[in-house]
Amino acid sequence: MAATVISGKEISKVFRERLKQSIDLIKSEKVDDPNAIFPGLAVIQVGADPASSIYVNNKKKSCEEVGIVSFSYTLEDTATEAELIELIETLNKDPRVHGILCQLPLPKHMDEFSVINAIDPKKDVDGFHPVNKGLLSIGRDCLVSCTPLGCLMMLKEMNIDISGKNCVIIGRSNIVGKPLAALMLAENATVTIAHSKTKDLKALCRTADILIAAIGRSGFVTEDFVKPGAVVIDVGINRDPDNKVRGDVKYDEVFEVAGAITPVPGGVGPMTIAMLLQNTYKSYLSLTQS
Ligand code: NDP
Repeated sequence: MAATVISGKEISKVFRERLKQSIDLIKSEKVDDPNAIFPGLAVIQVGADPASSIYVNNKKKSCEEVGIVSFSYTLEDTATEAELIELIETLNKDPRVHGILCQLPLPKHMDEFSVINAIDPKKDVDGFHPVNKGLLSIGRDCLVSCTPLGCLMMLKEMNIDISGKNCVIIGRSNIVGKPLAALMLAENATVTIAHSKTKDLKALCRTADILIAAIGRSGFVTEDFVKPGAVVIDVGINRDPDNKVRGDVKYDEVFEVAGAITPVPGGVGPMTIAMLLQNTYKSYLSLTQS
């Protein structure tokens, strides 16, 4: 039996539309206030990596669509870490800015951890700051990394039961696997994180009611990884030799076994951007209402 397709493209539209309505309402309420501040996102890019430029432009365009003001900063790839941190500190103090995003990867001479640490945790819309990571791990309200949050929101929008389910996540990165495990645990799933040293990965994956692939290897998850009827979330974004974007899951064959599946493209990717916008709005509310 073929799987239900979980369309991140369609679900993210619903999120963006809701957000636009909320922001439109704020704008209409403040129409006579010349000093009014509206949600704002600062996007910093260091260097001119073409892939990063595409991501940054998509983020800026998405901001405009929902009414979030975007501020762009581009530093030369020869800029020093101190210069970047100085910019972040200026943005930390800027009342028009509620979210600060520093596009990764950074040039090799910069220490990612120090740079992320410089961002005010309240403006850390990527959810990468250790304060937000810590709050997530103890189940407190915080800014959650956009990709894991997008995966969870897709499951919720599809009314997929998580509580008590076996969830296997392949990948233990700080930006996807680990925060996703914390989110799924908070939803009462029984969570297993697998990685490159996991023994008998296929058998483990076949125990999953919800299987999430965040590996970075095109078509790695084949039908023999999947329990019939399982929900399969494909986080991977890989560019194949034919220049096509493909996920970590061999879509065509897994589609025949799974109960539900996310496509690539059009799955987790659009949800990630929608969550960035949502996090910026959340920061705006907490910074302007406190
Ligand atoms: P990382 O490279 O940081 O992590 C990959 C993980 O996969 C590691 O934990 C690694 O294990 C594990 N892994 C690699 N090979 C195997 C294997 N043979 N068997 C089992 N586990 C393996 O990647 P990210 O988490 O940053 O990203 C994962 C994928 O998701 C990438 O394709 C990336 O492009 C995509 N992505 C998509 C986003 C979106 O918006 N849709 C956002 C972010 C990422 P180990 O730790 O042992 O090395």
